Amino acid sequence: MGGHVPASPRCAPVTAADPAAGREDAYRAPVGTHDVLPPESGRWAELVSQFARRAARFGYGLVLTPAFEHVEVFQRVGEGTDVVRKEMYEFEDKGGRRLALRPEGTAPVVRAYIQHRPTPPWKVWYLAPHFRHEKAQRGRYRQHHQLGAEVLGVDDPAVDVEVIDLAQGFLTSLGLSRFSLALNSLGDSVCRPGYLDALRDYLRAHADQLCADSQARLETNPLRVLDCKQPQCVAVIERAPQLLEHLCEPCEAHFEAVQAGLKTLGVPFEIDPRLVRGLDYYTRTTFEFASEALESAQNALGGGGRYDRLAEEMGGPPAPGIGFGIGIERVLIACDSEGVLPTPLPRLDAFVVDALGGGPGGDPEVVALLHELREAGLSADRAYGGRSLKAQTRAADRAGARYLVIVGREEMGRGAVAVRDMESGEQVEVGRSRVVSWLCEHRERLGT
Ligand code: AMP
Repeated sequence: MGGHVPASPRCAPVTAADPAAGREDAYRAPVGTHDVLPPESGRWAELVSQFARRAARFGYGLVLTPAFEHVEVFQRVGEGTDVVRKEMYEFEDKGGRRLALRPEGTAPVVRAYIQHRPTPPWKVWYLAPHFRHEKAQRGRYRQHHQLGAEVLGVDDPAVDVEVIDLAQGFLTSLGLSRFSLALNSLGDSVCRPGYLDALRDYLRAHADQLCADSQARLETNPLRVLDCKQPQCVAVIERAPQLLEHLCEPCEAHFEAVQAGLKTLGVPFEIDPRLVRGLDYYTRTTFEFASEALESAQNALGGGGRYDRLAEEMGGPPAPGIGFGIGIERVLIACDSEGVLPTPLPRLDAFVVDALGGGPGGDPEVVALLHELREAGLSADRAYGGRSLKAQTRAADRAGARYLVIVGREEMGRGAVAVRDMESGEQVEVGRSRVVSWLCEHRERLGT
């Protein structure tokens, strides 16, 4: 599974056309990306399996979409957003196609829904790398990973409650407690246009007090101005008209039902009338989880919302939808701050020690026993390269082995092996033919 490591970086062919030619960092992970190695990757595995198990309990199936799509898939969803306009990794492939690395997770899932037309409700979850050319800093990377879920084909507010519950319970299951859920409604194509007119009029009247970015956004995407964190803008935004006061009756009823559903489940939330989220496609419910354990500029753990028009806007059938994405790296930083989800210690059920001096490759007895242990469902390992007994024992210790299974000449003469409990130091002799079941029984008894 390990990635390709060039045998000799200095000898790798570099051409003048190669932008990395002669650069010292050519063999380092690019800025804003990172490798995840054991044992840290054990936390990733734990986090992903928690999410996968929870999603399965909620009736969601795993969806896998390509890491790149035709640029149109993303342009459609975010013409007015930084994620698409400024940060997207776009390229032309050798066939002249304009492609983009996935900057966000919803559009590819909606594209897949339109392409395959599964029976609604279509409930899916994903784990996927996301690519954004951002200024790299702690909690903000050029490749990050999101766990997400999407439901297509139903506009029932019960689904909004379900996806929020799925996300909220996942964060809680990791042991996180210092986070909050913000909730808002962005209305729909009936009530939002009137609100946008009112907002634009208000912002135009105060344009001289806004930052340059907000002044530019005022005409193209006035909702995004509400997101601006510049102090001069915050003062103007505080007095701006609020969308929640302009909701049409069906949007109002939907929003009420979502709040009632969350209250029934005991999911705490706060209404934030200024929560607009980054992307263009949201309608009605939007939500975001923010951690108090993270720096305020990067405190969003995840968020999402409803996108009832997106499938149609992408040329598909009418299909309301809702979903969310949670950033794994951010969640892990929050876990560090809260002291939860520790990196798992290495652990093995058994480490087979070659005391027969079989040399490189190991004695066939050792090779066969190790194979049997693994096939029986035990985690087991060995040392390589004909190491000394002492070195093998040290390796067993480092690997977190519970038992040493020592294959020695004397014991083998009696048809047995020695088994040492690494915790108590106690050593017993067990028949070679019984040792696999002996270890299985002990593992069960120890509940490991
Ligand atoms: P968004 O798709 O922007 O709503 O992002 C969803 C979640 O992904 C955020 O709440 C973050 O946890 C995470 N996220 C977004 N962008 C980045 C990034 N550049 N680096 C790390 N995590 C990110």
